[in-house]
Amino acid sequence: IETLNVECLILGGGPAGLSAAVELGKAGVGVVLVDDKADLGGKLVLQTHKFFGSIDACHAGTRGMDIGRKLEAEVRKFENVRIWANSNALAVFSDRKVGILREGHYVLVQPQVLLVATGAREKSLVFRGNTLPGVYGAGAFQTLVNRDMVKPSDRLFVIGGGNVGLIAAYHALQAGIEVVGLCEALPECGGYKVHRDKLVRMGVPIHNSHTVISANGEGEVESVTIAKLDAAWKVVPGTEKTFKCDTVLVAVGLEPVNEFFGKAKEFGLPVYSAGDAEEIAEASAAMFTGKIRGLEIARALGRDTGEVPTEWHRTAAVLKSRPGATITEEIPEDEKGVFPVFHCSQEIPCNPCTSICPQGSIMIEGNDILGVPTFNEKDCIACEQCVAVCPGLAITLLDYRRGGDEVLVSIPYEFPGSTIKAGDTVTVLDTLGRILGNVQVDRVRSPKFADHAVLVKVRAPFEIAKQIAGIRVQQPWVSEPMPEKVERLSDDEIVCRCERVTAGEVRARIRAGVRDMNELKAATRAGMGACGGKTCPSLIRRIFREEGVKDSEITELTQRPIFMEVPLGAFAGVVTGEGPVQDVARAHAVGAFQGGL
Ligand code: SF4
Ligand code: SF4
Repeated sequence: IETLNVECLILGGGPAGLSAAVELGKAGVGVVLVDDKADLGGKLVLQTHKFFGSIDACHAGTRGMDIGRKLEAEVRKFENVRIWANSNALAVFSDRKVGILREGHYVLVQPQVLLVATGAREKSLVFRGNTLPGVYGAGAFQTLVNRDMVKPSDRLFVIGGGNVGLIAAYHALQAGIEVVGLCEALPECGGYKVHRDKLVRMGVPIHNSHTVISANGEGEVESVTIAKLDAAWKVVPGTEKTFKCDTVLVAVGLEPVNEFFGKAKEFGLPVYSAGDAEEIAEASAAMFTGKIRGLEIARALGRDTGEVPTEWHRTAAVLKSRPGATITEEIPEDEKGVFPVFHCSQEIPCNPCTSICPQGSIMIEGNDILGVPTFNEKDCIACEQCVAVCPGLAITLLDYRRGGDEVLVSIPYEFPGSTIKAGDTVTVLDTLGRILGNVQVDRVRSPKFADHAVLVKVRAPFEIAKQIAGIRVQQPWVSEPMPEKVERLSDDEIVCRCERVTAGEVRARIRAGVRDMNELKAATRAGMGACGGKTCPSLIRRIFREEGVKDSEITELTQRPIFMEVPLGAFAGVVTGEGPVQDVARAHAVGAFQGGL
């Protein structure tokens, strides 16, 4: 088996890995970057929406998939950075070599430093019917819709109100899928308020303090049943509601893919981690932590790069910030001239609206980008660039200059231009999704700076103009529950999909006194399957908690290489497929966004 020596091996070609590779490339460090996909960019490839954050630090206001292309193009400029696409890292071994299946050909890499930028994997959820065909994780669903341009569903229900669930629901609407509803166990969604608001304005109800009871159907999902939770997280009997749908999307959080980091530490290989593999945060933060790790590694390898600027650490901390306080939306009193209205009332790390304004008229108070924007009443030239750039679709522009009893309101709209035209009557809603009335479309345009979005100008009466935040795209009857709730009686809450182990089996062992996940694995086979125990540990931990067992009493599952499924012949030098022929990845699939719209 061939062994390759390299200064730095990067596992993962997503936002963190690519950003680190750029810094290492600049410093002249010899790098091999390994990614399991044909297209670099990681999750960015699936992100057809415009990004939050700051324009300077992480291309905010640009669509995620375009950021992926930019980063890839930058990395490819460096001859000292070799890219191994379609390649899987299998394990870190005790001799500090990393086993890689490079396009079907097994090689060992001996790096001086390892950077783990392997991202995150999705958490799952235990409920009856959770393995019925039609129950998806958000990543798989977004891959089909945004990358492969497949419409896998006609009627979707989403579980989880974090950014991933909110965004996946929005992408589904853009793909022409009816989104019946979204439920979130917490009283408030954990994702950005602007994402949540955008969704309710489109006509998607959000059921807070609700959980999923079951996915129902014979052989595939036909409906979903949810119920209200009380303050003690118990289901309130009699509150069950069933919605007709063919797909249930589970988006209940992420956890770092950190097994390579753990093994490298254990065996004394110098190792760093960045992005979600280090800490779950937005992709904008992953880009910045990748950049920082790149510089740190270059310095550790003796390159004269200087210290990591303090400002970089500060920016990374800001980009990682969780959503902060929500303030009451300020509605301007003016009724003359032209000015923007911000339906953005939560502190989040975001500022493209301030950077884009050619008049410098939009401000965020304070030294960072966490505040909410305000208009400083300098002359607005009605360019509509702020309306187009906002990733939360949270800015409208009011134009009183025409006179009369109507105001022109510009609203961002990310659906095909063919679905709306001048003269149409549309229903407009306020920030929270309350219907304000029907108004007429005056003009529709799609300027280049809007990057495929449409700017819709409506004529609205003075009384509602300032409150208008969006246009409804989905009719209310889509979200109505079925007249009778459906109860799924079979006890098929699956914890380990690979070995078909039910929650009941795990629960029985816990009640019999088992506290060691390895013992549970030996007794039930949960964690012994093809995925290598990647999904079930978090579900088993949850069952432990439900049974009143403290985390401190639990012995974690021992992680053993190999971390990926691999044909045994690979270790004997058998090449599967065509083997590596080049050090470059194929170009990105094109036009995903157009397809998504
Ligand atoms: S419309 Fe143009 S000039 Fe007016 S606030 Fe927005 S970006 Fe600035
Ligand atoms: S209004 Fe400005 S700060 Fe708020 S989401 Fe939009 S671009 Fe970001």
